[in-house]
Formats: sequence, structure tokens, C-alpha cells
Amino acid sequence: GTNATAGRPRLTVIGTGYLGATHAVCMAQLGFDVLAVDVDTTKIERLAAGEVPFFEPGLDELLQANLAAGRLRFTSSFEEVARFGDVHFLCVGTPQLPGRQNADLSYLHAAVTALAPHLRRGSLVVGKSTVPVGTAAALADRLAVEAPGVELAWNPEFLREGFAVEDTLRPDRLVFGVASTPAETILRSVYAPITNQYETPVIVADFATAELVKVAANSFLATKISYINAMAEVCEAVDADVTTLAQALSLDERIGGKFLRPGVGFGGGCLPKDIRAFRARADELGVGHSLTFLSEVDEINLRRRDRIVQLARTAVGGSLAGQPVAVLGASFKPNSDDVRDSPALAVAALLDGAGATVTVYDPMALDNARRARPELTYATSAAEAVSGAKATVLLTEWAEFGELDPAELATLAAAHTIIDARHTLDSARWRAAGWTYVSPGRPAMT
Ligand code: NAD
Repeated sequence: GTNATAGRPRLTVIGTGYLGATHAVCMAQLGFDVLAVDVDTTKIERLAAGEVPFFEPGLDELLQANLAAGRLRFTSSFEEVARFGDVHFLCVGTPQLPGRQNADLSYLHAAVTALAPHLRRGSLVVGKSTVPVGTAAALADRLAVEAPGVELAWNPEFLREGFAVEDTLRPDRLVFGVASTPAETILRSVYAPITNQYETPVIVADFATAELVKVAANSFLATKISYINAMAEVCEAVDADVTTLAQALSLDERIGGKFLRPGVGFGGGCLPKDIRAFRARADELGVGHSLTFLSEVDEINLRRRDRIVQLARTAVGGSLAGQPVAVLGASFKPNSDDVRDSPALAVAALLDGAGATVTVYDPMALDNARRARPELTYATSAAEAVSGAKATVLLTEWAEFGELDPAELATLAAAHTIIDARHTLDSARWRAAGWTYVSPGRPAMT
């Protein structure tokens, strides 16, 4: 039975990281009573105190408003969560297994183990984490034994960090992987505040298709980025300009300009591990040959990091040993403090490995970067990082880097090469201030 008040299901969120914290806050914002749980008690304490433990534009305000309104609470008790909720969203991490390509499903299984004995009959467990195809069926089998009368659905999440709130409150589409009509009906009622307002398309599918939509989407996006970065490699061989090429391609509506930006490639907690896990799962299913191209996509992506190091090595005269290098950017993309598999930090580490003295500045990700790469030196401003540097490398396209004053930085740097790995600076402005402007995939003098 349901204990919903006013016909509204009570929601819970299991795992309050980037996805779960955002989902919990946004569901409360839509008017639901929400209770969220995490095994990380520090995270729960901070969230309960109104503090988002990571940087996500707009999320703090919504968290505080919904805590104040009494619609949103946090707990460390799975039993409390199981008893409270009609619908339980699984939002725990599914990272890459250390030393392997596959996803680590142990957090998901641990969450189900903690919840299952306490779940109420008639409640619905909804997976949102990104998983290898077949995971939902396996979890449904577990629930059938460990929590009879509790159903499972799979509802993959497509939010982008940096736009997490707007993506959650106004998604492009919703995907409901269900095994029954009642499960579909419950999901439709949960998302009704969104679908009623925006006529959001809803795709109803079986578990496997729903799971596949997510990894297929991320594989496509990763492929598009590596495609244009492969073109950058070809451009480098013939002194062509990949940014002009990309611009011309993007004007073809069938291709489009999104995710067609050449640079230092993709990173973060999703794309890299998702394409690797997808490839590994395809191998297990005997269709590995269908996804061999994803290994190429990964390799092209990683080669761009070496290319940036090569440009830096050339800039400092052939050897990075003992050379001071400034790195601008640590997060895997702007408007995020996430450094998981960040190309920026990876390049910083490669430069460090080649003997350079690396100083990193990032507007938001310094704390996370320090934890991930304690061996590097960190600065609290771009000017501080650039002071004394023999080469400066821009690796994350934060808006504030576009506003840097190249003339002022020129007075601080020991040598004047700027390597714009993201193609975001105004090259004419930097050249006018006396800098040698270098960017991957482009001839030296463009
Ligand atoms: P995250 O690491 O930020 O958060 C995961 C959270 O789960 C952590 O707070 C962790 O403490 C918690 N957790 C681990 N085991 C738990 C357990 N047994 N019970 C309760 N909580 C537990 O990861 P994330 O970025 O939020 O990603 C979560 C999932 O969502 C992944 O599958 C990811 O691929 C997917 N996803 C992420 C994004 C994104 O932009 N970050 C977008 C779409 C999908």
C-alpha cells in the first residue's frame, strides 16, 4: 500500500553525489516530499545543513529553499528510507573497476542489500545510475527474492554537470524502462509536473533498451568529439586548421556543431568510463566486434593529451625537465568542480611526469585537484600560476580565462607561449600582447 499524501508518491534518493543530490533537490522543488540517504555521513550532514558538497550552479539555493519548506530531508538510515518512500531512486556511483574496463556494480548491489529487507510491498525501486545492459534484470531478480511485491524500473539520467538543475527540471526526454504497466503509471505520475508543463517526450521501453539508451548516447557523444580530434591529427599533418574545418562541418544541419569542438578531448565521471564499460559488456555478450570503434574513440581522446604535452615541450625548447609550466584549468569542463578523469589534470600530471614544475590554477576545482593530484603545485589565481612560467597551457574553457589580460600576464611570465588546448582565447589579442599563440590542430600562425 501507499502512504502518499494528496495522491503524491513519497520519493527517496539513494546516493547523493552529483546525480542524487540534484535529483533529490529537484524532485522536492517539483513539490514532492523527498528523503535522501548516502553511506557518506559527512555528505549527508553537509546537505542537511544546506551545503551542496560540490559546485553546481543554482543547486545551493534550491537545496536551502526546499529544506526550509520541509519537503526535503537527509538521513543515514536505509530503514527509514525504505519505510518512508513509495518510489526509491537509485543514484549511487558505477565507476570503472580499478585496472579493468568494466563498471563496478558493487555500490548498486550494496544499496539494494541495505534497502531490500525494509522495503514496503507495492513500492517501486527506480534505477537512475548508468549501468551495463542486463543489470536491471539482475536487480529485479534479486528484489523478487529479497523484497517480494516490490518492483523495479530503469530510468537513466542524462543531466549535464554545470546544467544539472535545468536538465533535471526540463529534460530533453524521459526514458522509462519498465516490466509492467503499473510501474509505467507510477513513473508517469512522478514526472507529471515536468511532462505537463513541457510536453517532454517519454520513451517507454524494456529494461535492456532503457539501459542501452544511456550508454549509446554517451558513446555517440564521445565518438563525435574523437571524430573531430582525429581530424585535428590529420590537420596537423598538412598544416590545415581544424577549427575552421569544424565550423564548416557544423553548418551542415545533419552534423551540427554540438560536441564537435576540437581540443583536449572528453573526460569526467561519465563518458570515459561509460564507453569502456559498454565495450567490456559487449565483449561479454559476444558482440565486442560491434563496438571495437569505441576503443579507437578512447585512444584518439587520450592521444590529444600527449599532443598538448608535445606542444609544451616544443615551446620550452625540447625538454620539459626543470621547466616551470602554468596550467590553467583542472576540472574536466567549465562550471564544474569535477576532476574525475579530467583531461586538464591528466595533462598537468603528464607535464609533471616529464620533469616540468607544474603550477595549476582553477576557479572552482582546486580542492578536488589537490586531493586527486597532491604532487602538483597549486595557485589561487591565474596570475600566480603564470608568474615565472616558461609556457602556459589553457586546458579548461572557464569563461574567466577569456577575460584574462594577456599584456598583464606577459609582465609576469618568464617566456611567452600560450597553448590554448580548448581554442577559446582570442589569438589576435594574445599575439598583440607579445605572446606566441599555439593551439592543437591548427597551423602555427593562425
Ligand atoms: P558520485 O560519485 O558523485 O555519487 C555517488 C554517491 O553514491 C556518493 O555520494 C556515494 O557516497 C554514494 N554511495 C555509494 N555507495 C552507496 C550505497 N551503498 N548507498 C548509498 N549511497 C552510496 O557519482 P555521480 O556522478 O552522482 O554518478 C552516479 C551515477 O549517475 C553513475 O552511475 C553515473 O554514471 C550516473 N550519471 C552521472 C551523471 C553526472 O553528470 N555526474 C549524469 C548522468 C548519469
